[in-house]
Amino acid sequence: AKELVEFRNLETHFKTSAGTVKAVNDVSFSIREGETLCVVGESGCGKSVTAMSLMQLIESPPGKIVGGEIIFEGKDLLKLSKKDMSRLRGNEIAMIFQEPMSSLNPVFTIGKQITEPLLYHLGMTQKEAKARAIELITMVGIPRPEKIYDSYPHELSGGMRQRIMIAIALSCNPKLLIADEPTTALDVTIQAQILDLMRDIKGKMNTAIMMITHDLGVVAEMADFVVVMYAGKVIEEAPVLELFKNPQHPYTQGLLKAKPVINQRQERLYSIPGQVPNPVDLGDNCHFHDRCEFCMEICKAKTPPLRTHADGHKTACWLYEEEGKAQ
Ligand code: SF4
Ligand code: MG
Repeated sequence: AKELVEFRNLETHFKTSAGTVKAVNDVSFSIREGETLCVVGESGCGKSVTAMSLMQLIESPPGKIVGGEIIFEGKDLLKLSKKDMSRLRGNEIAMIFQEPMSSLNPVFTIGKQITEPLLYHLGMTQKEAKARAIELITMVGIPRPEKIYDSYPHELSGGMRQRIMIAIALSCNPKLLIADEPTTALDVTIQAQILDLMRDIKGKMNTAIMMITHDLGVVAEMADFVVVMYAGKVIEEAPVLELFKNPQHPYTQGLLKAKPVINQRQERLYSIPGQVPNPVDLGDNCHFHDRCEFCMEICKAKTPPLRTHADGHKTACWLYEEEGKAQ
């Protein structure tokens, strides 16, 4: 399929009292039309910041996109005016978050919140917008849509609110839906239902999905393609089956071996020994070297390039480079 989004050497930094954090450090990857791409990694690896950079919702200061391009349908989003970007947001590119309660406005009815983008982006009349809203509420699997239309967010369960967020996100038929940990705050049964719903919708609407998750179960169920991030960098990417069958990077191998801690909602679910490096002083090295059982001299001195080592499969690790093999 054709490329819909291409991140090219994206750099997003945050100024902190301890120094500059390179939250997104030279990140490049593409999302193809109609594809579900999962970005996976631990808390703080840069996956949410990558998505927020695309939406241009980085809080500045302290954050700033300092380099790179984000090409969407041939245009660099980073060069668009604020006005053009706000026209794309919620229209061609929509986003759903982990906590639907904090993204829904508690003082407005569900109906008002679903019709708003239809009025703003699509110029529908109030009557058309209401009819479309009822359709959308039905599409996301909520019974008695007329009643829900007049309800307030607090009258709905967490799972229902996430369904409403999906309805709002899909209201303008976006080409890209960004979902940042959309099921993390929900209990396991509801999680499964929301994932089913998203798969179902993707099948019907051919929306590309950029799904951010720390949960490899979600990856296995949802992804066509996987990007693994570590300390602000892409360290591996591959089609989902290839990645699960043949993980190349020692970090990815560790993720696949590690067992998640059941019923723990923090993102630190993995039992790979060691700590994520201090993001303020990442040096010219492999950022995983302190935790890697295969660490060689070159790993402490040079950052490995992200390169193709199998069909559609890229890895950033000296084990797969001539210079590493020589050690
Ligand atoms: Fe381990 Fe070296 Fe590969 Fe980094 S580059 S993952 S330290 S072997
Ligand atoms: Mg996050």
